Amino acid sequence: MHITARLSMVERYLRSHVRDPRILEAMEQLPRHLFVDPALQSRAYHNDALPIGFGQTISQPLMVARMTEQLQVEQHHCVLEIGTGSGYQAAILAALCREVFTVERLEPLAMEARERFEQLGIPNIHTAIADGTVNAFAELTFDRILITAGGNRHPSSLLRQLIVGGILIAPIGTDKHQTLYRYIRTAANHWQRTPIGDCHFVKLIGEEGWQDQEKEEVVL
Ligand code: SAH
Repeated sequence: MHITARLSMVERYLRSHVRDPRILEAMEQLPRHLFVDPALQSRAYHNDALPIGFGQTISQPLMVARMTEQLQVEQHHCVLEIGTGSGYQAAILAALCREVFTVERLEPLAMEARERFEQLGIPNIHTAIADGTVNAFAELTFDRILITAGGNRHPSSLLRQLIVGGILIAPIGTDKHQTLYRYIRTAANHWQRTPIGDCHFVKLIGEEGWQDQEKEEVVL
């Protein structure tokens, strides 16, 4: 039943917007209903963002597909994601590249996501619990970086963790409305930035993001 729902999600919401067959196939395969609360599973294959607790959301399938396509992920790549959330986006990336490193600031979400990766037998995702805006897997550089929460400034530290030729995708704007940007590191000290669409994400909270004044509200 879920398989049929997944195939129809891809046909109805994704196929006319996203060309890369590998992404469509990954989204046909991955059971999105296992990334949300059992009470919401009947809505898992609609094109909606859904609450995952702690004021956070799993992104809309079309947004996941679009961001993944913009990232131009290749099989040999190492990809960093900031904002693990449910783990769904990380699992899609893991189907398309060599290693995924994903950082989540809220411990309970990170733990749940880690459990899902184990249960689904996904071996190539590495998780961390931290503010990912700075020092995310600090010893590593990445071919691709995806930020899945809305920031309010350039992700300066993360831009330095991109290899030359690498791509970073990030939503940046106010808390109500953001623009999705693509950055390409064209040389050691040069990045090219292009706006690629409008979007709405929960806040990126951290040293190079929104300040943490609502921490009590979010965490408790
Ligand atoms: N990619 C997720 C959806 C992300 S929602 C999915 O597929 O389900 C955004 C997530 O970013 C939230 O879980 C939020 O807690 C997290 N987040 C916000 N600021 C962060 C930061 N500075 N570092 C790491 N995670 C952060």
